[in-house]
Amino acid sequence: MGSISGKKIRSYIVEHLDPELGPWSTLEYRSIAQDSAKAGVRFFLSSVPTVMSLPPELRDLESLTIEHRSVEKLFQEDKGRVCLLDPAATVELSPEDGTKFDVFLFGGILGDDPPRDRTSELRKKGFSGRRLGPIQMTTDTAVRVTRMVVEQKVPLKDIPYVDYPELHIDENESTEMPFRYVKDADGSPCMPEGMVDLIKADSEKGFGDLL
Ligand code: SAM
Repeated sequence: MGSISGKKIRSYIVEHLDPELGPWSTLEYRSIAQDSAKAGVRFFLSSVPTVMSLPPELRDLESLTIEHRSVEKLFQEDKGRVCLLDPAATVELSPEDGTKFDVFLFGGILGDDPPRDRTSELRKKGFSGRRLGPIQMTTDTAVRVTRMVVEQKVPLKDIPYVDYPELHIDENESTEMPFRYVKDADGSPCMPEGMVDLIKADSEKGFGDLL
């Protein structure tokens, strides 16, 4: 864990587990990188295949470090520093976890409905797990909530949420997002820039193809 003027600098790692890095993941990862810079934390995207060409939106982002090695390899001698955010964990994340761990690990997995528990791929590696409540969040939301708990010391139960928001595609059609989001100041779900437009465009293709 590094420190600047006595402030601990924690690392947030998303282990990319999907075979591709499509537009949804791109918007989520870019948003995590931008927010990490504002919060003064480090953001790593690990297990990025060397042959994968990064989308332009993720290239040259100062606040994003691309790591081709897996988190298991990076922390094989140091697993105790790592907290896996795991929907199946039995202990909820608390502000005190910011003193127990300095690395917070997330599955780089697009949400699915019903959830397929692909976070188990990381659980099997033996990292300590913490849950962020009973409802599935998008990866950027899970990182946002973890930062609020660990960096700002806000207990999970005091964070305002919007569950399963309905997005209006046009005047006749709407779609329900099967996730929990943080509620922003005007009561809307906090989503990466460009995500609502992407959802609207993709909803014409059929939501089932995306999950
Ligand atoms: N359906 C998923 C699965 O297969 O495990 C959940 C994927 S979720 C979109 C992406 C990541 O966000 C998870 O791997 C986990 O690290 C984190 N996450 C999402 N909701 C969570 C929750 N309620 N508690 C803990 N972690 C969560």
